[in-house]
Amino acid sequence: MVGSSSQFQQLEKLGEGTYATVYKGRNRATGALVALKEINLDSEEGTPSTAIREISLMKELDYHNIVTLYDVIHTENKLTIVFEYMDRDLKRYMEVHGNNGALDLKTVKSFMFQLLKGIMFCHDNRVLHRDLKPQNLLISNKGELKLGDFGLARAFGIPFNTFSNEVVTLWYRAPDVLLGSRAYTTSIDIWSAGCIFAEMCTGKPLFPGSANDDQLMKIFRLMGTPNERTWPGVSSYPNYKNNWQIFVPQDLRLLIPNLDSMGLNLLNSLLQMRPEARITARQALQHPWFHEINNPSPLMHHINDSQQQSQQPPQQQQPSNNGQINY
Ligand code: ADP
Ligand code: MG
Repeated sequence: MVGSSSQFQQLEKLGEGTYATVYKGRNRATGALVALKEINLDSEEGTPSTAIREISLMKELDYHNIVTLYDVIHTENKLTIVFEYMDRDLKRYMEVHGNNGALDLKTVKSFMFQLLKGIMFCHDNRVLHRDLKPQNLLISNKGELKLGDFGLARAFGIPFNTFSNEVVTLWYRAPDVLLGSRAYTTSIDIWSAGCIFAEMCTGKPLFPGSANDDQLMKIFRLMGTPNERTWPGVSSYPNYKNNWQIFVPQDLRLLIPNLDSMGLNLLNSLLQMRPEARITARQALQHPWFHEINNPSPLMHHINDSQQQSQQPPQQQQPSNNGQINY
């Protein structure tokens, strides 16, 4: 832990989230913009060493699609985490750039690719995000998407209420978690990615539930009520009920008419009810819907990577798979 708050000039408030208040800041020495995430500590509890250790672990997660953590500053009653500055979160991005919130498919594809790359990197490093949602995905003016706001979920647990006293959203929570599973696996982040995918296409949250059971019913209404035949073992979950209203699975196509069939196929693989049946981030990145990102045409190369790669013959080019699309 190095540095002190006076290294940074605190500018306007960027957001208030689950645990903390986030301010824009400026490094007094370099002039660089940062995001300062301030967590007030309960003075009774002393040094949150576990939290600091967990947060410091995030420093090791150095990857293009994960927001860079520069520093952790621990003063007497405050923890300030210094992050790279991003222009806005995905929720705000959809409000500003979407058509009633809905993004065009080219942008959806680029953001999904980057989201899945960030998730794959976390999962490869045995880190679960556990709280993926549009507010926790950060977007730069260059069209980069990066995962933010994690570590804290592991360090402090997921609270019931947010710092600003909003109730923590259940909208992106996997059915197995809602059913009371404590076996958190990478598949819970994949479910969230599916919900975010649909929301980017329509501009509306896919499952805007208001409480645990209502959240489950919203999921069942679309995906079908599970039973032992469709989901062996479902009746063993703590929150299983044998009197659930029976819904049959609906066609996702009707809900998201603007998404092509390949995209619907990917969405369906992400939104599998059974956690074991959900696709992995690595598999999802290889899905044919991402064909043109994984196999950009020579012309696309020229547009995207004219600086770095135009000298090389096409067959030697590395696929430009950072998923960004230049307009
Ligand atoms: P919490 O754990 O309290 O939810 P977040 O890290 O999600 O905190 O931050 C809350 C909000 O602040 C985000 O939804 C986003 O709008 C904004 N924010 C967070 N980090 C950054 C950043 N690095 N750059 C710009 N804005 C940020
Ligand atoms: Mg957050």
